[in-house]
Amino acid sequence: MSIVVYSARRILTMNPNQPFATHVAVRDGRILGAGTLDSLKGWGKFDLDDRFAEKVILPGFVEGHSHAFEGGVWKFPYVGFFERTTPDGKRSPGLESIDEVVAALQAYEKTMPRDGSALFAWGFDPIYFTGRRMNLADLDKVSTERPVVIIHSNFHVCNANTPIFAKAGITRHTNVHGIVKDTAGEPTGELQEMSAKYMAYRAAGLDLTALLTDEPAVWSFAKVAQLAGVTTATDLHNDLPESTVEGYLRATASDDFPIRLLPAFAGASVPPEQGVERLRALAKKNNDRLRFQLVKLITDGSIQGLSARMRWPGYYDGTPNGVWNVGPDEIDRILLAYHRAGFQVHIHTNGDEASEVAIEAVERALAAAPRWDHRHTLQHVQMADAGQFRRMKALGICANLFTNHLFYWGDVHYAKTLGPERAERMNACATALGLGVPFAIHCDAPVTPIGPLFTAWCAVNRLTASGRTLGAAEKISVAEALRAITLGAAYTLKLDEELGSIDVGKRADFAILDDDPLSVAPETLKDVPVWGTMLGGRIFRAPKA
Ligand SMILES: [Zn+2]
Repeated sequence: MSIVVYSARRILTMNPNQPFATHVAVRDGRILGAGTLDSLKGWGKFDLDDRFAEKVILPGFVEGHSHAFEGGVWKFPYVGFFERTTPDGKRSPGLESIDEVVAALQAYEKTMPRDGSALFAWGFDPIYFTGRRMNLADLDKVSTERPVVIIHSNFHVCNANTPIFAKAGITRHTNVHGIVKDTAGEPTGELQEMSAKYMAYRAAGLDLTALLTDEPAVWSFAKVAQLAGVTTATDLHNDLPESTVEGYLRATASDDFPIRLLPAFAGASVPPEQGVERLRALAKKNNDRLRFQLVKLITDGSIQGLSARMRWPGYYDGTPNGVWNVGPDEIDRILLAYHRAGFQVHIHTNGDEASEVAIEAVERALAAAPRWDHRHTLQHVQMADAGQFRRMKALGICANLFTNHLFYWGDVHYAKTLGPERAERMNACATALGLGVPFAIHCDAPVTPIGPLFTAWCAVNRLTASGRTLGAAEKISVAEALRAITLGAAYTLKLDEELGSIDVGKRADFAILDDDPLSVAPETLKDVPVWGTMLGGRIFRAPKA
């Protein structure tokens, strides 16, 4: 097979033996070598391709925690606080009060067919609104006939209208964890976490996974990721209905599909013994661009959704402690089944009580069934303190920190949910690095937009939306942040021997940038333009908007 040697202004390899190179040789979709042109000549006849001579090449970015929902949610209206760019480059404005949200939904409702179908909207972020929470009456203004469900930006909490509550049979007497009630004991319209939330989805007739992760959605997700320089991305919680699996298989069979996709099976969606069988069967269908190998468990909820589980002293503003999905009474049984079967388990923990429960569960699983190099990973793990990181290191647990949170909700955590001290040590990259905990950083799209350079910028600068520096002691360098979005994330997915750095034998997956992230001012890291990517030797241009 023919060899192509690409020249570049600079190649940042993430290979400590040779951190920088000017040329990389590619054969059969893999890296034959990196170095100088002279050092590559010995491989034989090659074509020199200098289209990247002015560009900077990095390993393709690895997004260790995102959701293919990102590609599907745009079928539905966005009602978030922050302005957001749609996959086709249009601006969706931020909505800054309950009244603005209701008005936007009323306008949208008028465009819907008169068939009684449910109105679903997403991105709602009431933590930024002053005054009361949204209630049933607000959404009844949108419709008293059509079911209306709006999911909050954290995807853990939703609000619904009276038709939903009537159909789901939710009253003051319904005893399901997560149904928020007022001081008089009446449901307010807000539903926190899976058990309560799914009552609304069922009443609305919404099969969200099937709707949001169909074949067009996964294509759209892959394209949005590719524009940001991503070559490998996770879909980190999916119960994988047959239609979704078939769509993923068809999409990834195409050479035009621009990323490698790793869905994580929703481990608590079926009894774990069934889950193990299902995942084993799915893994037989793996191809170069699709890997079934991960399990996801969700312990608590969302900090700004007021459903995180926190240790003493709890929420700064006195909000009661949050809601368990897989809680202390269930986690051992579920985790142990997947752990024994040899799968890698990614465990969502936001609050520090949730991290505690997960760390202790992994410790017990390891005592029951010792396993080396399991790389179970705590996802978000936003509030972990140094002691928890020390135990994670001792137990071989990886961390994937949600640094985008610092920008989007840092101000709220400082003032309302956590208070100054715990807000400043959130997403403690420097602590993880110092203690040797393998770590990545992530966006959790569609919770925040996908863009690893932005995520790295957050870890480097720790700036909130209002411009406050949140926890200067936890800043990491640009080089360390770039490693976290490439080799660091690949390690948390057990793909570090295959991708994540530019050295011989690995896949030719590159992010191609217009500028050198190590040379620009760190405050401008997020603004370095992505020219495109290479996946297995195939070039994908990011068309400029
Ligand atoms: Zn997530």
